[in-house]
Amino acid sequence: MPFYDDLQVMFSAEQIQQRIRELGAQITQDLRGQEVTVISILKGSYIFCADLVRAIDLPLSVDFLGLSSYGGKTETSGVVRITSDLSMPIEGRQVLVVEDIVDTGLTMAFLEENLLTRHPAGIKVCALLEKPSRAARKIDIHYKGFVIPDAFVVGYGLDYDERYRNVPFIGVLTNR
Ligand code: 5GP
Repeated sequence: MPFYDDLQVMFSAEQIQQRIRELGAQITQDLRGQEVTVISILKGSYIFCADLVRAIDLPLSVDFLGLSSYGGKTETSGVVRITSDLSMPIEGRQVLVVEDIVDTGLTMAFLEENLLTRHPAGIKVCALLEKPSRAARKIDIHYKGFVIPDAFVVGYGLDYDERYRNVPFIGVLTNR
């Protein structure tokens, strides 16, 4: 038995890859001809981003932004802190923010406001998952993997208390 046999599968590895191929094709079409910087929001989006950029058939740069929000293990407080900043300027570039999940939207609202002060040519948001039932702020998600109900999900980069990031699918904890 794998260590994650307490998870119930929500999206299999195959389902995720199929959706990523579709998102990648759409992004390739939309952002062609632009100077693109992909920003992977750490830590949750690193696996998604690694697969997504390989499905985008464009020259692009990749950068990372570490965010941490104060709060409990499964809730965002809305008070967000940059733990590790971008390594390159984004001025004049088309930014594609890659996020694991938009839940209340507070993290993304903070992030967009912050990135706008750096004068990019534009900002597009790609989120693997969205939980619209909990939205507190309206976020324009230009590229969306899956819409999910209000459940706490882990795997494929997403953690619970730093565990489960290396699970190959997205699942729900059944014994929490
Ligand atoms: P928001 O600010 O939109 O409420 O929360 C966004 C962040 O909270 C995500 O980037 C993620 O780190 C975390 N988060 C929200 N929902 C979940 C979830 O169901 N599972 C996990 N592992 N993290 C979540």
